[in-house]
Amino acid sequence: MIKAVRSIEIAVKPVTIPVITPVIPISTKIDTKKGELLAKKARNSIGQFCHDECGAYCCRKGYLVLSQKELDLLLNSQEALADELKLIKQQNNGNFSLFIGNSQFPCPRLDNMQCSIHKNKSRPQCCKDFPLFLKDDKFFLSPRCPAVKYGKFYKYETQFKKLGYTQVEPASFSEIEFQNVN
Ligand code: SF4
Ligand code: SF4
Repeated sequence: MIKAVRSIEIAVKPVTIPVITPVIPISTKIDTKKGELLAKKARNSIGQFCHDECGAYCCRKGYLVLSQKELDLLLNSQEALADELKLIKQQNNGNFSLFIGNSQFPCPRLDNMQCSIHKNKSRPQCCKDFPLFLKDDKFFLSPRCPAVKYGKFYKYETQFKKLGYTQVEPASFSEIEFQNVN
């Protein structure tokens, strides 16, 4: 005789798999492409001010941090004078700093208060960046720049912070120090 077999139904509870959020380093969360575009926009926004009101202060005062190639491009046959005035110093990382605060020696590429190599792709990086520098998830505005002093970058500061950047202050009023920001 065949026994009837009762089927047993087992209620299986749905298993909830926990969602694990990966820990992403802060710097990789930032859209650096957007940051670069915003920096370009911010720098371009002060073009008129640089020309009409400032008079190229940054090309006449301060230090430029340069690679050997950039230094050669700038000196433009004035190397002897720069040497004589002791304006060039080599840095530990192999770059150079060129002092352009001497009244006899503004940047040799400054012509009639305008940069004569503005469109040259080899123009020094510090010139392309000034007065707004990006480094990883940080940004820095040079306090030497009158446009910064007059608050021309306020709205961009807010936008950088929204992108996740942190504003840092310079250790001193020199872009050389900025190279050491951690
Ligand atoms: S110091 Fe600032 S405002 Fe003056 S020319 Fe340079 S970037 Fe422009
Ligand atoms: S290279 Fe051009 S932008 Fe740079 S300091 Fe000289 S004149 Fe100014």
